[in-house]
Amino acid sequence: MSNYIETVIENCKKNNPGEVEFHQTVEEVLHSLEPVIAKHPEYEEAAILERLVEPERGITFKVTWVDDAGKVQVNKGYRYQFNSAIGPYKGGLRFAPNVYPGIIKFLGFEQIFKNSLTGLPIGGGKGGANFDPNGKSDAEVMRFCQAFITELYRHIGPSTDVPAGDLGVGGREIGYMFGQYKKIVNRFEGTLTGKGLSWGGLNGRTEATGYGIVYYAQCMLEANGESLKDKKVAISGFGNVSWGTAMKLNELGAKVITISGPDGYIYDPDGVSGEKVDYMLELRGSGKNICAPYADKFPGATFYAGKKPWEVEADLYIPCATQNEIREDDAKSFVERGVKFVCEGSNMSSTNEAIKIMQDGGIIVGPSKAANAGGVACSCIEMGQNAGKTVFTPDQVHAQLKDIMVGIHKACQEAAEEYGFGYNLVAGANIAGFLKVADAMMAQGI
Ligand code: GLU
Repeated sequence: MSNYIETVIENCKKNNPGEVEFHQTVEEVLHSLEPVIAKHPEYEEAAILERLVEPERGITFKVTWVDDAGKVQVNKGYRYQFNSAIGPYKGGLRFAPNVYPGIIKFLGFEQIFKNSLTGLPIGGGKGGANFDPNGKSDAEVMRFCQAFITELYRHIGPSTDVPAGDLGVGGREIGYMFGQYKKIVNRFEGTLTGKGLSWGGLNGRTEATGYGIVYYAQCMLEANGESLKDKKVAISGFGNVSWGTAMKLNELGAKVITISGPDGYIYDPDGVSGEKVDYMLELRGSGKNICAPYADKFPGATFYAGKKPWEVEADLYIPCATQNEIREDDAKSFVERGVKFVCEGSNMSSTNEAIKIMQDGGIIVGPSKAANAGGVACSCIEMGQNAGKTVFTPDQVHAQLKDIMVGIHKACQEAAEEYGFGYNLVAGANIAGFLKVADAMMAQGI
């Protein structure tokens, strides 16, 4: 590995102590850029990598709100505006108890490359808070969202930084934040995406991430002489991403045999389709653990408490829950069992060690920053819809989403081949995403 790359990684670790998730993504991305840096010494001269790993701006703020018992609560809010070389900062907000700068920076850094891969004009950013919406009343969530945006509003705008949802932030939270933002700035503008359909939202945005993942997986299979038809697919998670993924897999003739929640996973050999997918949504809305009640309602399904669905035999695995759900042991077991395809749905689904084991073992891995880019791509289409004061039809959006995902797969494949990685989509995604941003940074000077 080049000294330049190792030095940038070491300095990044020193400058961001303890932020292990951020270190993980920086190492993963920078290592695959080695042949690019070797071919383009001008990037090292312009310190492109040092500039990429340092957010352009990091905002941390206090979020003070009052709970239903009248007690004053204080949380930490964050927005890391990572890179605006190709467009305004764009990326979601994560509300979860484990949120700290290392998580938001890993997500923000990944977002730079993901957004670049979409081919659309959006830079990278991410934000969130160490707030757990689970178990909070609707009124508490509203007061929290209002307090959060009352701090963040001054740093965002339709051409500056456009947040959206991520874990813990769905349509309800976006609604409360948008309402408060509009009151403060007195403008109806598309500063948040993932809005409701009657107030500027995009037809198809909710399912876009999941649909896009399936289109990407379809490209992976087809590039290797296979198709999704009749494939058994094990997915994890039970949020928007898994829901959209399950719906599109069913539509394309594949069978979803697992879903998972915090309580464990469900194995359903008859397939999670039709009313079962709706039931998954219902349970999610209820805020309860979803797997145990699912197995009670649909007797063909079995509930495995406290386990991950990776032990089930399937043709394709799609992690859709959270970061690092596929670890070394899971990867080893995949290799031993002759698994062929893993397509990451959640951001950074696998540890770096797991990716290496899977790829060395001949498994084709679709990286999340490419596979789940359909969500943010549709967010950008929503920004365009708002700026043009218009409404796009579901067919217009879906056609564009499919084209974008096919284009991303092609870009990953071509970049990997050009830089000597063969059909390595993980390296290809990093390289293709990087080149566009680096080119813009070079053109815009220091
Ligand atoms: N949170 C999503 C992601 O990880 C969507 C971001 C957005 O739409 O801005 O890409």
